[in-house]
Amino acid sequence: MSSLTDIFTCARCGYCCQGETTVSLDADDQTQMMAKLGLSREEMEAKYWRVTKGVVQMRIIDHHCIFYSPEQGCTVHEGRPWRCGQWPLHPSILTDENNFRAIRESCPGINQNLSWEEFCTVFRRLLEHE
Ligand code: SF4
Ligand code: SF4
Repeated sequence: MSSLTDIFTCARCGYCCQGETTVSLDADDQTQMMAKLGLSREEMEAKYWRVTKGVVQMRIIDHHCIFYSPEQGCTVHEGRPWRCGQWPLHPSILTDENNFRAIRESCPGINQNLSWEEFCTVFRRLLEHE
């Protein structure tokens, strides 16, 4: 067991794009998203971003990220923040079983049949080969 699909296959449920907040966008994320959409910072802030004390997040509409479409999933896929791309394989899983359990509960794409140790063995291998 050593491939990504052994521990995770996205179920495309959209749960990670729902809720009342989103991940924050770092400077590279902001640049990438602006380029992908062909919009200026001012336009992004007017239409898509919520800026709170310098922290940039995506706006929420109808309890989900503004870029989430129930039909199409993420509509800014190639311009999405790196944290969206990383999810649910967050390194904190490796250091605390409670993190593993919490993330596994919120993401049905995680192989639900693996123990924490089994999951971490494969996850570590994948990180080493990144
Ligand atoms: S940017 Fe895309 S992947 Fe990230 S929360 Fe929004 S819809 Fe989901
Ligand atoms: S919660 Fe997990 S399975 Fe569902 S869309 Fe997000 S990453 Fe994929």
